[in-house]
Amino acid sequence: MEAAAHTEAVAGKILTTLAQEYTLGDVLFQSSASIGVTLFKSDGVTVDDLLKQADLAMYRSKATGRNAMHFFDPTMQAVVLERALLERDMRQALHDKQFLLHFQPQFLAASHTISGAEVLVRWLHPVRGMVSPVNFIALAEESGLIVPLGDWVLETACWQLAKWATHDQFSNFSLAVNVSAVQFRQPDFVDKVHSVLHRTGALGQRLKLELTESLLVNNVQEVVEKMVVLQASGVKFSLDDFGTGFSSLAYLKRLPLDQLIIDQSFVRDVLVDPNDAAIARTVVTLGHSLGLNVIAEGVENDGQRDFLAQANCDAFQGYFFSRPLPASEFESFALRSGRKVPQTN
Ligand code: C2E
Ligand code: CA
Ligand code: CA
Repeated sequence: MEAAAHTEAVAGKILTTLAQEYTLGDVLFQSSASIGVTLFKSDGVTVDDLLKQADLAMYRSKATGRNAMHFFDPTMQAVVLERALLERDMRQALHDKQFLLHFQPQFLAASHTISGAEVLVRWLHPVRGMVSPVNFIALAEESGLIVPLGDWVLETACWQLAKWATHDQFSNFSLAVNVSAVQFRQPDFVDKVHSVLHRTGALGQRLKLELTESLLVNNVQEVVEKMVVLQASGVKFSLDDFGTGFSSLAYLKRLPLDQLIIDQSFVRDVLVDPNDAAIARTVVTLGHSLGLNVIAEGVENDGQRDFLAQANCDAFQGYFFSRPLPASEFESFALRSGRKVPQTN
């Protein structure tokens, strides 16, 4: 306790001293520090371990906005270890083909028919069971594993499209594939999409790529150029998570999009929160005025569906219609629910 209090006081002094402005030549400087501290008794920990612990604590200081001090605590190490294990397992999973795809139907509001599905990746872990993408996509992005994983998702989706192309009831179905910003920014992304279309025989017109606003942080011109090339092969684009980040309307005008997605965070309370209702209506109006169609995701009940239909939303997706399903169940569902085949646009 005494050591901790003493260290905290010293660290406080260091931070205050370093925070003072100083001049170098004519230029005024101000810097901050991020301090990590670990305490130890002489109980056999190695110098290496201590430095690692202090390092982890320092990263916590950086993560909380810098100019701060944090003590190491064992949960930090547990988190790092857990991530390392997950990353190792993910590499193995790619090799052992433990990933699979589920398909969540998308419905056209006007005809009440299925237009296709969004493809959602699942991980059937041998010990943990079914792992949600919420628990591994971010780590896959940080580790770069999203690139091989995303390639696999795209390829598998395109094989599915090629298979459906020969089927009377499914030939007009499109598939929406989530593409992470890391994946889209790869220099060979466009070539990869072209070669997967070529290899599988899937039609570009049936492939919809869901991009997120995080892609628009920098180099928008490059993003636009890639989209234009893919669009020439018929590929369509949706903007996912629209309105949850830093949407710039100026970007929206520049991107060759086909669809805006009303995020499920707005759909959830659309009947009870007037702000969410206003946002949902505004997204539809905005989309239509830019010549885009608008789909609402996360529709869980008929009230939400009716509200969104009234607001002129073009398409719906959500548990109210169906949960994401394995391919064979999706096909049965589509056969049961679709007497009419949706028209190609
Ligand atoms: P997302 O793209 O926003 O996908 C929609 C999520 O909402 C899915 O979660 C879906 O299962 C869930 N959902 C659908 N209908 C409802 C509903 O009515 N109510 C509620 N509460 N939720 C609903 P999921 O499958 O867990 O995926 C989570 C996220 O993981 C996705 O969010 C997407 O960002 C990411 N993801 C999934 N598959 C892929 C992939 O192949 N590649 C990449 N890069 N990201 C993926
Ligand atoms: Ca999505
Ligand atoms: Ca979304």
